[in-house]
Amino acid sequence: MKRLKGIPVSAGVAIGYAKIIEREKLHIDRKSIPKNMIEAELKRFKDDVDFVVKEIEHLISNYSYSKENEEILTAQKMILRDPEFSKRVTALISEELDNLENAISTYFTEITDIFNNMDNEFFSQRLSDFEDVAYRLLSHTLKKRKNLLNKLDETSILIMENISPSFVTKVFEKKIQGLCTEKGSKNSHSSIIARSMNLPTLVSTIELLENIEENQQVIIDGNKGELIISPTKSILEKYEKIFQQENAEKEKLQKLVNIESKTIDNRKIKLMSNIEIPEEIDQVLKYKSEGIGLFRTEFLFIDIDELPSEEEQYKIYRKIAEKCYPEPVIIRTIDVGGDKFSKILNITHEENPNLGWRGIRISLENIPIFRQQVRAILRANIKGNVKIMFPMISCVEEIIEAKKIIEECKKDLKKEKVRYVEDIEIGAMIEIPSAVITSDTLAEECDFLSIGTNDLVQYILAVDRDNESISKYYKPCDPSVIRSIKLTVDNAHEKGIKVAICGEMASEKIFVKLLVGLGIDELSVSPGRLLIVKNEILKCDKKNAEKLVAKILRKNTSDEIYQLLIK
Ligand code: PEP
Ligand code: MG
Repeated sequence: MKRLKGIPVSAGVAIGYAKIIEREKLHIDRKSIPKNMIEAELKRFKDDVDFVVKEIEHLISNYSYSKENEEILTAQKMILRDPEFSKRVTALISEELDNLENAISTYFTEITDIFNNMDNEFFSQRLSDFEDVAYRLLSHTLKKRKNLLNKLDETSILIMENISPSFVTKVFEKKIQGLCTEKGSKNSHSSIIARSMNLPTLVSTIELLENIEENQQVIIDGNKGELIISPTKSILEKYEKIFQQENAEKEKLQKLVNIESKTIDNRKIKLMSNIEIPEEIDQVLKYKSEGIGLFRTEFLFIDIDELPSEEEQYKIYRKIAEKCYPEPVIIRTIDVGGDKFSKILNITHEENPNLGWRGIRISLENIPIFRQQVRAILRANIKGNVKIMFPMISCVEEIIEAKKIIEECKKDLKKEKVRYVEDIEIGAMIEIPSAVITSDTLAEECDFLSIGTNDLVQYILAVDRDNESISKYYKPCDPSVIRSIKLTVDNAHEKGIKVAICGEMASEKIFVKLLVGLGIDELSVSPGRLLIVKNEILKCDKKNAEKLVAKILRKNTSDEIYQLLIK
């Protein structure tokens, strides 16, 4: 038995058999074919190209959310439809009697050799398109990829070096038990999707690939962050019990889908979802979330070479708004910076990125980009269920400035006779101590506030949220954090507006009672956590929660508060 440490990104226990998927080296069998097989080989060529083109078209319409991504896929499609490609492969098959794999491989080798000999950046970029499409087509022709996915079933724990977001969606359809990768981070899009699908997942698992073999029995402990390879009988029995308990819990939770999120004493707590990429909308609808409390739009601005156009953004925002209607969708404007690096927005190296170019500061310094996003959001608000929210607000001037841009965009749209809804609610995220202290002033300028506890804890306690080595100082139940939430709620309510929590604190069972007692109106959590949090709300009595909060507010240390919360 071996135990490996990994970073847990999606809780729960999974027991199954390791299925290792790597981008395999393709072996081309360079055989000649008899003349009477030429026709069959040419037909195979046509069918395989048609199949891969269709697959690319499917990817373009379902998984391509950035212009650059779409361009790459479109270029790949054009390579496959290039008459020169068809002419050369046909000649190699009919005249040289090459088998199909050999002919395809020869053509792409010839092309890549030509590009390799050109010392030109444009052509070297094109080279990777050719290599990629060659791999895609050859692996289909050799039936490798099909085999790779085919080996997955309901007993599999998928082991990979790293995984892309679209591949997570694909393997999830295979109903695998869990996922474990050697690379990856807790906040990557793939991790977020895995979490929203409730798939027990570990990333950054130390020395994973050198320690594991195909078909070995493995256990993922997504609660502790551990992969157990070839467990002993007693460890296996222990985990089987936990697994069964978790399943019974999940089944019970399913029954809550249609139950309204209210406390025992009938106080409404609106329960919404956080999404990071559009694919997550399916989970949002499945669990009957009361809308989207935080639509992070960073996926449009990270890992890209070209900015998304207004039109591209509009289409994405509108699709989500329509799918959620009549429930609200709160779209947060760009929040790159800090750990979310975007080369496109020209953020150069900073000594202190978390205190540097982040959130609204970037938007207000890049007005044309900000205007594009604001226009896209305004236009997407066809039915009036879209709201706009600004991240990392540190003072009221930023809100006033941002609202001015919204008004200018509305005027322009009106002039251009573009359809939009005049009234759109505007909110600020409360994530910085200065925003907490001036939340009374901010509340006057806003229609709602949303507390981002992930950053709030980081900035109040001066502890980097991504630095594992100081994580013991990252304490959401520190008195300073709790008093900050209370001050924000009281100020907002005094001005007659609602307050939500959209940081991870809202997703954690032990904090639900505390947040209800503090008077929070809405909680926004990752879709996979919705029913777990709803269950806690349903068990909660608001009056009792308020009494608990009164006690908590008299405590001086996070330890004392924690003890009260777990009682
Ligand atoms: C937060 O800071 O709590 C938040 C929700 O924003 P993000 O995690 O995207 O910084
Ligand atoms: Mg934040």
